[in-house]
Amino acid sequence: MQRRQFLATAAATALVGCQDASRTLEGCFAGADMARGHALRDLLRGGALPGPAVVRRVRVVVAGGGIAGLAAARALRLAGVEDFALLELEDEAGGNSRAGSVLGRACPRGAHYLPVPGDGAPEVQDLLEELGLRQRVAGRWRYDEFTLCHSPQERLHWQGRWHYGLLPVEGVAPGTLAQYRRFAERVQAFARSGAFAMPTFANFGSNEAPAPALLALDAMTFAGWQAREGLDDAHLRWYLDYCCRDDYGAGSGVVSAWAGIHYFASRHGFAVPDEGERDGEADEGVLTWPEGNGFLARRLAAPLAAAGQLFTGHSVLRIAEERHGVQVDALDHASGQVVRWQAERCVVALPLPLALAVVQQPPPFLRAAALGHAAAPWVVTNLAIAAPLADAPGAAPAWDNVVYDDPTPGGLGYVDAGHQRLDARAALAAPTVLSYYQALGDMQGARAQLAQRPWQHWAQAAIGALAQPHPDLARRIERVEVTRYGHAMAVPRPGRLETLSRIGIQRPTINTSLLLNGERPRALPTPATARLAFAHADWSGYSVFEEAFTRGHGAGLQAAI
Ligand SMILES: Cc1cc2nc3c(=O)[nH]c(=O)nc-3n(C[C@H](O)[C@H](O)[C@H](O)COP(=O)(O)OP(=O)(O)OC[C@H]3O[C@@H](n4cnc5c(N)ncnc54)[C@H](O)[C@@H]3O)c2cc1C
Repeated sequence: MQRRQFLATAAATALVGCQDASRTLEGCFAGADMARGHALRDLLRGGALPGPAVVRRVRVVVAGGGIAGLAAARALRLAGVEDFALLELEDEAGGNSRAGSVLGRACPRGAHYLPVPGDGAPEVQDLLEELGLRQRVAGRWRYDEFTLCHSPQERLHWQGRWHYGLLPVEGVAPGTLAQYRRFAERVQAFARSGAFAMPTFANFGSNEAPAPALLALDAMTFAGWQAREGLDDAHLRWYLDYCCRDDYGAGSGVVSAWAGIHYFASRHGFAVPDEGERDGEADEGVLTWPEGNGFLARRLAAPLAAAGQLFTGHSVLRIAEERHGVQVDALDHASGQVVRWQAERCVVALPLPLALAVVQQPPPFLRAAALGHAAAPWVVTNLAIAAPLADAPGAAPAWDNVVYDDPTPGGLGYVDAGHQRLDARAALAAPTVLSYYQALGDMQGARAQLAQRPWQHWAQAAIGALAQPHPDLARRIERVEVTRYGHAMAVPRPGRLETLSRIGIQRPTINTSLLLNGERPRALPTPATARLAFAHADWSGYSVFEEAFTRGHGAGLQAAI
């Protein structure tokens, strides 16, 4: 959706590396509606909320249509509950996993990949099976070849050349390789301990706190842990910092050592590059689509829209738990009216600060969780190009392309929406969209800048970041669309695991086999009151698909009981 159109001759003139200074750069802000979010905040702060013009009744309301809310809705349907309404503030469901398109070319506006889920995430495995992306063939699980990220997956622009993988390897000193090996050994030991799982909280048994060793890691920063371990190599530190910013929105000086290690130990590990791998990560399957995880969000939302259960453009203002039911007031942005929903239960699939703002007489565990919550701002700049760019020498174009000395704050490189095309030669020549990511959790005043700076500022930042490997980028851009997230994702700062695991003990034990007639009864993480079930990646302290989906699934089942 294009909310504001600008033509920016002046800005284009200033673009780094621009060889045709008189060119007009066309673009706009798109995706998340910051103005609507701010209007909601002002309304909630103002105190006196408008009264309802209409009253409706449903069995369950799902507040928030990100991955957690969509997963809750799916779980309700699987459990046989069709009488529900999902209320979403934006004009499209999906939250941080929404897709978009620029000049008709699909691209992510936020999340862009899902690692092949391990056995600790059976709910996610089930979803992929349902969507036909995971099949059992001759006794083995196989993932859809069109969806598994094609090779080459990643490359790093470093010392004027592209290198395969994201860890600097070629020509580094023996001492650097020795530190890579030491870190790999540490990760292997942590992974073997079984204490790191994805999703995280499904790993702790009911009423069981994390082991003291995990809490010790949770108490310090990842950078502090590296210093304690003598892991001081500049390349290793750069890589670990990049990984933290990529998954948690802030660097290794901000996130906890538990989170930093969890990134590797819960999923793909860390393989020593000179022992068979092209980079620091073991050869891991990654699922991706041209539109990123928007593919999954849309597949989850489609049946709800068809069944009239999805209400987009509805901002939840108030959730009041009462003796005989729940009242949910939502502003319908199309009519300007407040609709009151009377329900038996409500799934609160909202970011923590929003949940705290709208739930009346919030339960103590919600207050406690919101207290230490910090969220990182993010920017995604989608650059549509008609033809291949000039490229630095070295490794061939990959799906994920990262610049080592990226001059742009929080810059994480770009993914190419055209990467999954099957005909490699045609793919290289065809128009595509490059999605450049910036995680701004380390940047002072980032949120104010997001609100104040024009889209051209972010376009220039992306172009400047990529000027070295692609000097002709500014000249080749057809259109730019910038998506801003003021409070994109939870940052797992020291102490977060301790706080949230204490709260997570609130969850009930749900026998999913009773509800779904399945084979996998297990407790799912669902902080809940009598009528409210809470679900959002924020409850995990960090934001990835597996966390949001598993929590949403658990909350949906809880609401279906
Ligand atoms: C730029 C970016 C890139 C990412 N990349 C990846 C990736 O590649 N892989 C990955 O696994 N994860 C990624 N993530 C993490 C991503 O946040 C999670 O994967 C997941 O989408 C989180 O879902 P959620 O439902 O917990 O939260 P959200 O996406 O925050 O969903 C909350 C929903 O509630 C809605 N809402 C808020 N207030 C109200 C209200 N008052 N009334 C009604 N609705 C409301 C919001 O509009 C939103 O739709 C990325 C995140 C960002 C920001």
